[in-house]
Amino acid sequence: MSTFKAPKGTYDLLPPESAKFLAVREAIAAPLRNSGYGYIETPGFENVELFARGVGESTDIVTKEMYVFETKGGDRLALRPETTAPVLRAVLEANLHKAGNLPVKVWYSGSQYRYERPQKGRYRHFSQVGAEAIGAEDPALDAELIILADQSYRALGLRNFRILLNSLGDQECRPVYRAALQDFLRGLDLDEDTLRRAEINPLRVLDDKRPEVQQQLTDAPLLRDYLCDACKAYHEEVRDLITAAGVVFEDDPKLVRGLDYYTRTTFEFVHDGLGSQSAVGGGGRYDGLSEMIGGPSLPSVGWALGVDRTVLALEAEGIELDIPSATSVYAVPLGEEARRILFAKVTELRKNGVAADFSYGGKGLKAAMKAANRSGARYALVLGERDLADGVVQLKDMESGEQTAIGVNEIVAELESRLG
Ligand code: ATP
Ligand code: MG
Repeated sequence: MSTFKAPKGTYDLLPPESAKFLAVREAIAAPLRNSGYGYIETPGFENVELFARGVGESTDIVTKEMYVFETKGGDRLALRPETTAPVLRAVLEANLHKAGNLPVKVWYSGSQYRYERPQKGRYRHFSQVGAEAIGAEDPALDAELIILADQSYRALGLRNFRILLNSLGDQECRPVYRAALQDFLRGLDLDEDTLRRAEINPLRVLDDKRPEVQQQLTDAPLLRDYLCDACKAYHEEVRDLITAAGVVFEDDPKLVRGLDYYTRTTFEFVHDGLGSQSAVGGGGRYDGLSEMIGGPSLPSVGWALGVDRTVLALEAEGIELDIPSATSVYAVPLGEEARRILFAKVTELRKNGVAADFSYGGKGLKAAMKAANRSGARYALVLGERDLADGVVQLKDMESGEQTAIGVNEIVAELESRLG
């Protein structure tokens, strides 16, 4: 063991469990690729101001959770705590948002960093797959994203998740509501921090998880009673479209989420088997973000799904993903000459697209067959001294145990045909 350990709040993905993470990422990405979303990748760090402005000065992410550092060149950077602001920054920088090109639909997959109090489902390094549809105000786009997230969770076999849906209004109706909520909050018995938050961003107080705060919020005014006609119509349309798609959701009039940039449609995916870290994903419309970071008006919508918590949700439901074994053929040479011959065959198999592995390190037959078993390979190829003399290889079907001798030169064709 080395003297080093993974930093607090982080963990390593190791085989074979790491295959689950790949499968989850793939399951989330597949419906997106299938729906016109292109892959985007941005750096793991950005100018700290991008997040301060884009995510919001009053959010937990910016005030408490960001890893900020100064470079030798004097730049103030932050490890990305989320990827929506970076994606929008990249789209604006590359001018992808030309008229005629809208909406720009992209998806990403990658690490996020937040300095949080580590606990199950809450880490300092975690991973998200996200999707953003930039530059169009169309309820069908909000609906599309909710439907695609639902589809990927269902494809994974998840059942015990719920979709919470709300509208946060827009610049016309939200200020009126904000003032009403502020009035209400001023009359409550709240600690100083919370009162300060109520002045800067009162909606976020609704998101407070403490029971003593929630208790006092029972009669809080609700945004849905303040929505302007345009927001109301927009929200109805989103609800109708996802209902027509057979997606079940719950209206949650107190759902606000932690980022400042959301407008109108807001949603969260929660899983009931995860205890207090129940949010597996979330997102919504962020019509004002582009202007906040110096771009033109680009109404947009997106979500980010947490890969770590999705894996925990699978475990909570006892779902074993059907992950096909990576290796189809495992070669076991016995002796020097056999090693050279089989190594060449393995190389040829791989070139032909057959997943093959090899017994390295001069293992004896017994240890090598154990390794073949562990690899999950369907077939083992065993080449011993007698076989060499006969010009054959023993092809063993690892499922049935059946063994047949085949000519050395027929190996590749035979395996290709057996594996389809
Ligand atoms: P929470 O309310 O649990 O703090 P959040 O609102 O901060 O979640 P988002 O910023 O919406 O989360 O991120 C989207 C998803 O990313 C979450 O639903 C969750 O699955 C995942 N996520 C967020 N923070 C963490 C973390 N510290 N560790 C693991 N996953 C996380
Ligand atoms: Mg959080």
